[in-house]
Amino acid sequence: MRLSLTDKCNLRCTYCMPAEGLEWLSKQAVMTAGEIVRIVGIGVGQLGVRELRLTGGEPLVRHDLVDIISALRSNHPDLPISMTTNGVGLAKKAAALKAAGLTRINVSLDSLHEETFTQLTRRPFLDQVLAGVDAAWAAGLGPVKLNAVLMRGINDAEAPSLLDWALGRGYELRFIEQMPLDADHGWTRRNMITAAEIRQLLSADFVLSADPRARDGAPAERFEVRRRTARSDGGSGPVLGTVGIIASVTEPFCSDCRRTRITAEGKIMSCLFSREEFDLLGLLRTGASDEALAQRWQDAMWLKPKAHGMDHVGLDAPDFVQPDRSMSAIGG
Ligand code: SAM
Ligand code: SF4
Repeated sequence: MRLSLTDKCNLRCTYCMPAEGLEWLSKQAVMTAGEIVRIVGIGVGQLGVRELRLTGGEPLVRHDLVDIISALRSNHPDLPISMTTNGVGLAKKAAALKAAGLTRINVSLDSLHEETFTQLTRRPFLDQVLAGVDAAWAAGLGPVKLNAVLMRGINDAEAPSLLDWALGRGYELRFIEQMPLDADHGWTRRNMITAAEIRQLLSADFVLSADPRARDGAPAERFEVRRRTARSDGGSGPVLGTVGIIASVTEPFCSDCRRTRITAEGKIMSCLFSREEFDLLGLLRTGASDEALAQRWQDAMWLKPKAHGMDHVGLDAPDFVQPDRSMSAIGG
């Protein structure tokens, strides 16, 4: 289960938000801590949710984040609870998040160069993010995973050095294909960096081989990484770590997808690309029982699309309609 805590964010990543930001939801429209705890309880208790990821927008901008995690942890002692964050302000909060019961963390990091980072996120916060990643690891929120989106001509050439940096610190880097979920609707199939290109970019320095562990419905295809010692020998060094590639567009994994999503205003989305949403929070606020809420959630999930329809062979996919919501407004 992916649950968005807020639609607000303090970065403006070009592949997600417009420069001027979006019109934020009113405080009234967003789920309260108590409503979040109840909804998660129904998911876990009645619908078989086995893992929770908190996301946004930027979850760290929610002032009651630590309280929410504490409450979830006390109700669900064994539930893996992870969080995806941009890492801004994480250094100060990592220890408290761990103490509250957060299991592990994913931090988005697209570049190690100040200028490129600022160009991509439209904010000069690279140092804060790097400090946040290290603080998360030091607080015991590992394994720390890093998410990177590659943009052509901006940070694509950085792919091998990002991987080198992550491997050197024991972090697991995952490259995510850019999806058509930007508020500016600037995504083009022609311009996105595909998983095949990512493997090619990495192959200059590294040899990737399939990770023998079962993928088990995970979005990332994992590879073991060895350093390429000489072009001809295929690379014979020791395994340095793993890298993941999330090829949502060109190599989709829809048939194995078990995710359910709740947006910050309590709407059920059965897929990132759903054009249909089901209002769980509105029903909850009418005084509905847990059973009625579970039933609505289940009904919504039965309508999970078979596939998102983006993985067309040609460069233009005429029947793919970009959803109205951007990634930050869904909860990626
Ligand atoms: N603000 C947090 C962050 O950036 O980690 C959490 C929310 S963000 C929407 C979750 C993830 O979605 C991030 O790793 C981000 O890079 C990714 N993302 C956002 N827009 C995307 C897009 N158009 N295509 C692919 N990934 C995207
Ligand atoms: Fe904010 Fe995350 Fe979207 Fe970047 S990707 S604008 S950090 S929500």
